[in-house]
Amino acid sequence: MRYSKLFVPTLREVPAEAEIESHKLMIRAGLIRRFASGIYNFLPLGYKVFRNIENIIREEMDKQDGQELHMSALIPAEVLKESGRWDVFGPEMFKLRDRSNREFCLGPTHEESFTVSIRNEVRSYKALPQILYQIQTKFRDEIRPRFGVMRSREFIMKDAYSFDADEHGLDVSYKKMHDAYCAIFDRCGLDYTVVQADSGAMGGSGSEEFMVKSAVGEAAIAYCNSCGYAANDEKAQCVEPRTEIVSTKSIEKVKTPDIGTIDDLCNFFGCQPALFAKTLIYKADDEVVAAVVRGDRELNETKLTNLLGCVELEMADAETVMKVTGAQVGFAGPVGLKIKTIADLEVKHMADFITGANETDYHYSNVNLSDCNIEVFWDIRNIVEGDKCPVCGEPVKIDRGIEVGHIFKLGTKYSEALGCRFLDENGKEKPMIMGSYGIGVARTMAAVIEQNCDEKGIIWPLGVAPYKVIVIPVNTSKEEQMEMAERIYKNLLSLGLEVLLDDRNERAGVKFNDADLIGIPVRITVGKRASEGFVEYKLRKDEESQDIAEADIMSRIADDIGMS
Ligand code: ATP
Ligand code: MG
Repeated sequence: MRYSKLFVPTLREVPAEAEIESHKLMIRAGLIRRFASGIYNFLPLGYKVFRNIENIIREEMDKQDGQELHMSALIPAEVLKESGRWDVFGPEMFKLRDRSNREFCLGPTHEESFTVSIRNEVRSYKALPQILYQIQTKFRDEIRPRFGVMRSREFIMKDAYSFDADEHGLDVSYKKMHDAYCAIFDRCGLDYTVVQADSGAMGGSGSEEFMVKSAVGEAAIAYCNSCGYAANDEKAQCVEPRTEIVSTKSIEKVKTPDIGTIDDLCNFFGCQPALFAKTLIYKADDEVVAAVVRGDRELNETKLTNLLGCVELEMADAETVMKVTGAQVGFAGPVGLKIKTIADLEVKHMADFITGANETDYHYSNVNLSDCNIEVFWDIRNIVEGDKCPVCGEPVKIDRGIEVGHIFKLGTKYSEALGCRFLDENGKEKPMIMGSYGIGVARTMAAVIEQNCDEKGIIWPLGVAPYKVIVIPVNTSKEEQMEMAERIYKNLLSLGLEVLLDDRNERAGVKFNDADLIGIPVRITVGKRASEGFVEYKLRKDEESQDIAEADIMSRIADDIGMS
């Protein structure tokens, strides 16, 4: 392609709307443009990279016996009502009605569509397993769309669903998808970690996320360098401490006027947050419960949801708190509380601690477990750096990650709800065992940029680069340079390579800046030494360039690009 014909509107200025590097660069390099909040359009260069990633995904999915198909984005409400998810999704789902007032949604994910499509069509164990996938648009009205295509409201996902006759079959399908994902992210040039993820209380026997380590990642990952354990913060298990309980004091009620926050309490009592047992009141579906964690800890809502087996979990409003504790928010505690109370495992080892007194403006100090009504002790807090690894006991580290992919053993959750059954070899009817597997294509692209950029722009890994080589004649009015550049360009094209010829009548500096910004892996500059038959050869990722003979270009490129 000739640069003069390209529609690549590059920008010198850093766009005000962008916070993170990949977002800034995607706009500056003319890959995407914002259309509305959380909605982006891909321009030609961006779409080329996008399709390269899509093709990598296709190739690796097909290698693992995945079959591509395409489902509609518009989903009739009935199928989501059948699975029970119509109401669960809440405001994240875009709902709409047709002219006859029938309800639909714009699919946020497609478990139901695939399950409904396969039931009635596949009836025998002989036709299993099946791994079906699509690369298709999803819609989620995210509360906080941000970072460009990293978290957008319309995005393209590769979603796959496996259908098996038994658990062993699911394990095999799951492993295939795991392997496909590793191959995909390797080929995209990503440095990633596979971490354990939550698979929910009902159904689902395993789940892993593919995390690209990055300071701008929205997910936290706990990992252990000693044994290799890695899990996201929703899942990462906190181990029960072994400390002995030594209680020396007896409970005492203390007036704490207008002091409701942990910080204020620390000042008031002159102690550390770890001496408090913080009590949070939650609404779990229709039940109101209390959850107690140490004052310096964060409650993990996923762990609490799983323990309670509820669908929705939300903090109780002030009115409910008043009703169940008899006090304003900030004064709840496990002493004398009448509702179901769950405490974190750490609380089990606390002594002489401080809690709310279930009376506005009062706390108890020197509280011990014998004073409290705690029904269950369970791991319900977030892991923190330095906590013991649940596998080997060494201290864990915490990093941030961008979730680019997610693989999930669903079990029979959808096949049972939607009646997706088959006859086994004994003629017995059984629900199919399912898995689901997703990759965000544009989020993957953004993650590639996060890990492969410098102050000048993007440094595309070869596998996804929109063009592999850019040929730059320094001075387009010099016939000798143009002739040589054209010749090199055509030779490379004839090898089937994607090549750009920067034939613009611009200063060399401008061309170099653009080439660096859009991140083309190999740059061949045809300048003064053209008369001697030499060009300047430079890789985007390297600082140095080298003068090489025109005749040696092909072999150099073959070496660098890995062509045979
Ligand atoms: P997150 O926790 O980041 O919201 P999720 O758990 O909702 O992700 P899944 O439902 O597992 O994501 O979707 C599979 C993949 O789709 C994710 O791993 C991610 O790559 C991509 N994805 C999810 N939401 C978005 C979004 N709003 N914008 C772009 N990609 C997304
Ligand atoms: Mg999400």
